[in-house]
Amino acid sequence: MKQQSVFVVGAGVVGLSTAIRVLEAGYDVTLFAEVFPTDPKTVKYTSFWAGAICRPGLGNSLSSRLEKETLHIFAQMVKEDPNVPIATHPIFGYAEVANPEDRKHDAEMKELFPDFRVLDPNELPHGVASGVVFTVFFIDVPQYLAYLWHRFFFLGGRAFRSKLSSLSDLLSPTTGVRLGLEHVARDGNITEATSGSLTFNASALVNCTGLGALSLGDVNDAAMFPTRGETVLLRAPWITSGLQYAWKNGDITYIIPRGSGVVVLGGTFQADDWHPSPRPEMVKLMKEHGIAVCRELLPPSKRAHGGIDDLDVIEECVGLRPTRRGGVRVQTSWLDGEKKIPVVHNYGHGGGGYESSWASADLAVELLQTALKG
Ligand SMILES: Cc1cc2nc3c(=O)[nH]c(=O)nc-3n(C[C@H](O)[C@H](O)[C@H](O)COP(=O)(O)OP(=O)(O)OC[C@H]3O[C@@H](n4cnc5c(N)ncnc54)[C@H](O)[C@@H]3O)c2cc1C
Repeated sequence: MKQQSVFVVGAGVVGLSTAIRVLEAGYDVTLFAEVFPTDPKTVKYTSFWAGAICRPGLGNSLSSRLEKETLHIFAQMVKEDPNVPIATHPIFGYAEVANPEDRKHDAEMKELFPDFRVLDPNELPHGVASGVVFTVFFIDVPQYLAYLWHRFFFLGGRAFRSKLSSLSDLLSPTTGVRLGLEHVARDGNITEATSGSLTFNASALVNCTGLGALSLGDVNDAAMFPTRGETVLLRAPWITSGLQYAWKNGDITYIIPRGSGVVVLGGTFQADDWHPSPRPEMVKLMKEHGIAVCRELLPPSKRAHGGIDDLDVIEECVGLRPTRRGGVRVQTSWLDGEKKIPVVHNYGHGGGGYESSWASADLAVELLQTALKG
């Protein structure tokens, strides 16, 4: 029997994970996006800029449920494939002001992270009022995106580049001709521009456009906004544990080691701020905060007396987390074109697109199957 054809729009961590799950469910998948993981880094593609750690949000919202389920899926992946670019390290959580509310979540944390424990006062660094430690997954973002990309092609997916003005652009049987699509190969090269003979005919669309959902026609989701995140990438291969440090004034410093020896030092959480490049004063503050809480960010020879200019900086970064008032949207709608077809939306993952990716993709596939049966 001929496979039904599904178009997935968006090739960030959410689009790639979803496309993989749709392929695994037995559909023929074509991926459309303006930016792919093989492209130079751009602020239009948030997935390049993530940390990324997997520490599910607590409580019972859809996001936290998806994050908790994805945590189990990552655990399974790491068990089955030692080459998957996800490392397991301890992370220390320190706060300058103790918040008794935090202790209410200890039981839930213990359930998620069996080695979770509250640190004794004599284990805390100077100036820290409370602390915890537990083991989490750290995703090596560039390696992981490459891993997803290859897995997508291995399963038989194909990819075309286009910036869509609306989802309906994809509904005409001669989509390829009208959009002037470029075929993107596994190595990221453009192999051909579409010719007049190329036609598509989708049974369903899956919308994984992240922040693009704000301006993409047929979606235009006004609940979407960016939460801007600045980070600095450092070379510090000797760091093998993560840190989240809550300052008295509400600032957060975080340190995320990657298998490649790169360390992510962050960061900011600025709602509705679209500024696409680093702000020098913020970069300086992040570095000062970083070495104040972790001298080991400095190379060994500079540790005794060095300052922020002695950090081995690789890159100063900005990413825009695709945040949605009301939370992530995983939902079906219908689009009327030459025929009526279902659109499964899967976007708005904010600061948790990696850590909710697989469960969100699984839910999208469930909705897709239900819609196509209907
Ligand atoms: C500093 C920082 C730290 C973070 N840390 C973490 C972390 O520790 N853990 C975690 O889980 N997450 C983290 N995140 C969040 C995570 O990066 C995002 O949730 C995730 O990358 C969102 O993925 P996405 O696929 O939805 O969007 P994107 O990666 O932005 O992908 C969107 C895709 O849609 C395409 N697209 C959009 N509009 C159109 C259009 N009109 N036509 C064609 N294509 C279109 C784009 O080209 C792109 O391919 C962090 C983010 C930042 C910035």
